[in-house]
Amino acid sequence: MDYLSKISRQVAAVPRSGIRDFFELVQGRDEVISLGVGEPDYAAPWHIREAAIYSLERGNTSYTSNLGLMSLRRKIASYVGDFFDVSYDPSSEILVTVGVSEALDLALRALLNPGDEVIYHEPCYVSYMPGVLLAHGVPIAVPTSRKDNFALKPEALSAALTPNSRVLMLNFPTNPTGGVVSSEDLEGIARLCVERDLIVISDEIYSELRYDDSRHQSIAALPGMRERTILLHGFSKAFAMTGFRLGYACAPEPLTEAMMKIHQYSMLCAPITSQAAALEALENGASSVERMRASYHERRDFIVRRLNEIGLECHSPGGAFYVFPDIRGLGLSSRDFAMGLLEAENVAAVPGDAFGHSGEGFLRCCYATAFDQLREALDRMERFVATLARP
Ligand code: PLP
Repeated sequence: MDYLSKISRQVAAVPRSGIRDFFELVQGRDEVISLGVGEPDYAAPWHIREAAIYSLERGNTSYTSNLGLMSLRRKIASYVGDFFDVSYDPSSEILVTVGVSEALDLALRALLNPGDEVIYHEPCYVSYMPGVLLAHGVPIAVPTSRKDNFALKPEALSAALTPNSRVLMLNFPTNPTGGVVSSEDLEGIARLCVERDLIVISDEIYSELRYDDSRHQSIAALPGMRERTILLHGFSKAFAMTGFRLGYACAPEPLTEAMMKIHQYSMLCAPITSQAAALEALENGASSVERMRASYHERRDFIVRRLNEIGLECHSPGGAFYVFPDIRGLGLSSRDFAMGLLEAENVAAVPGDAFGHSGEGFLRCCYATAFDQLREALDRMERFVATLARP
């Protein structure tokens, strides 16, 4: 059968994730140290796992409200109010989702008409461009550069705007670069959004994982922005709860209602067991988050120092758990470097072009990996780099 003719053109046009391609090559190899997968090396804290177990023991195995458990939405409202300094009504402005992944998809599908342009800064999370295409939008990537610590500059945003621009997607701290944005630039970006009547989808999934004493700032808290921002957050990263698949979207009621319509017909609700765990995470998880954050901070300092010693220039990222060293001086493409490193030294890191064209010449290394593994991986990288003749 000609299956291609049976598959939606929209889906057929979406490329496979470069990360997936690369990790298929890693599968089945022994002794690989992986700096590839973007998730914490911790299990979810025990008290959070226990809350999930108790919830099951009590026989809580039903659907919840489409929006999510009211007790959880109340807790999210108070957490978001304290942490991001924006208030949302738990009865109508918070939607609990199956990870930030679902929330991203809902936001794009709720906002876009065919041909609407969505601007995002690149290198970026692998789902952004495909997510826009699947929602019938037009992806517009704005490249960022190492000299700006991979932050979106208002001037670059302004140059990308057209009469069809509808949505801006932001992600600070950024996957894959760990980049953060300055208050001044965020304010400039917010002013443009107001002037040009853009809606912002702000993916703040790494917001607790900030280093260097800089406090996270959400664009939703800036003047004129609450009404035009969909703030996305979740439990995967800071609480080490990737497998629970739980996130949320906060937005003014009409936008929440639009996302809810898709959610109720596609997902119905997020799993009740994960919602019970998330409630516990927000009630009692702060010290666990701080313990993990402090450990990522130490590991960030170590990996940045070692990469620079090896000769792979690397900025010190302000957040998340990724570094994005520059390999342009070595005369190999990102893919050839990553493949060579895997073949020669059994270290897996993701080629930068998996995160968009502007990631070419870089490598993404996730340092949420045990310290001894990290040390060994960096020693192996040093050996590999020493074998490369610089052009
Ligand atoms: N957004 C970004 C920037 C990410 O890096 C990830 C996961 O790596 C996600 C969203 C997906 O998160 P979740 O596990 O909540 O679906």
